[in-house]
Amino acid sequence: MTIGYNTLEVEVDLNAIRHNYRLLRDKGSRVYGVVKADAYGHGLIEVARALEEEGADTFAVGTVGEGMQLRKSGCSKRIISLLGPLNEEDCFNAAQNKIIPFIGEFEQLEMLSAVVSAQGRKVEISLKFDTGMSRLGFSVNELDKLIEWLKINPQICPVLASSHLATSDDPAYEGYMSAQAETFSGILKRLADAGYELEASLANSAGILVHDQVHYSAQRGGIALYGSNPLLGTEWSESGRDLKPAMQVRTNIAAVRELKKGQAISYGCTYTADRDMTVAIVCAGYADGYSRGLSSTGEVCIHGKRAKILGRVCMQLCIVDVSHIEGVKFGDTAYLLGGEGEGHISAEDLAGWWQTITYEIFCLLGMNPRTYKK
Ligand SMILES: *Cc1c(COP(=O)(O)O)cnc(C)c1O
Repeated sequence: MTIGYNTLEVEVDLNAIRHNYRLLRDKGSRVYGVVKADAYGHGLIEVARALEEEGADTFAVGTVGEGMQLRKSGCSKRIISLLGPLNEEDCFNAAQNKIIPFIGEFEQLEMLSAVVSAQGRKVEISLKFDTGMSRLGFSVNELDKLIEWLKINPQICPVLASSHLATSDDPAYEGYMSAQAETFSGILKRLADAGYELEASLANSAGILVHDQVHYSAQRGGIALYGSNPLLGTEWSESGRDLKPAMQVRTNIAAVRELKKGQAISYGCTYTADRDMTVAIVCAGYADGYSRGLSSTGEVCIHGKRAKILGRVCMQLCIVDVSHIEGVKFGDTAYLLGGEGEGHISAEDLAGWWQTITYEIFCLLGMNPRTYKK
């Protein structure tokens, strides 16, 4: 999956991802590598391969299609589709490629059952429960009906049970998380009583890092694998201190020019030079996933120093102030994420200017062409 026009270069450090995986595994037990959305923009196949070398035996993708891509790359480990089947083709492909789909709707059960029954085969699934996200999953009220359905449809074999936490990264909502865990435990007990002893996962990265009580038999690690601390800025921040960032994004400078005091900059003339200044025209814009929302607020790193974006971010360009940076010239590198020295830009810095979370930064910038650090 790529967007962008070959000006941005995303560099991924797989050793950092390996390090982060080991850190999560040491805190948890069996950590599934969450590699949905092209491994949060870091590259599905490359990341899964690196994690497999570290001992990961289960991968969680989003769509069944992503799971097929991973299977086709030669991955023989357990693959789970978090989204599950959305149509008959997905059902067929999940069964065919041994992808374990999350199932949270009776419609999905019926559809999957019809497809595998017609082929005379069985299929393993992961039961998904809604314990507080109000998004996907069976509710507690549907449990009796679900168990009844499963009893008369032995071609559908539940092997995993899961639910998703809404607030594990927020100390103010610890009670909400505990209530979700309590509901989940109750569900697991009723399933066990009905003869379904399932491997259970509830925790995401934040849950793995700080909440032992939501670990169950497996955990699903996502954002922390990619080196972003989901607890940053909270009293739990220390727990994610040793995570290492894995993504850097750089581009080139297309021009350097002098501006006189009073000259306006970029579309809409939203910024006017308040002094004589030197500006660099940087090859990055919203067509590269570098949001227009960064207009007049974002910063880039040039020669180890910060340079502020002046005026509007354009489709493939933005303009930054380099008055305070010596010797900037055509062809120099500008880091949008990462970089050296005191001007280094963290994913959290960028997410702050962008008014979003690091997950979105990685997914969007990660759609540009990638290279891997050796
Ligand atoms: C994305 C996702 C995760 C991983 O969450 P992180 O916060 O990135 O660790 C876990 N479970 C489900 C269902 C997800 O969709």
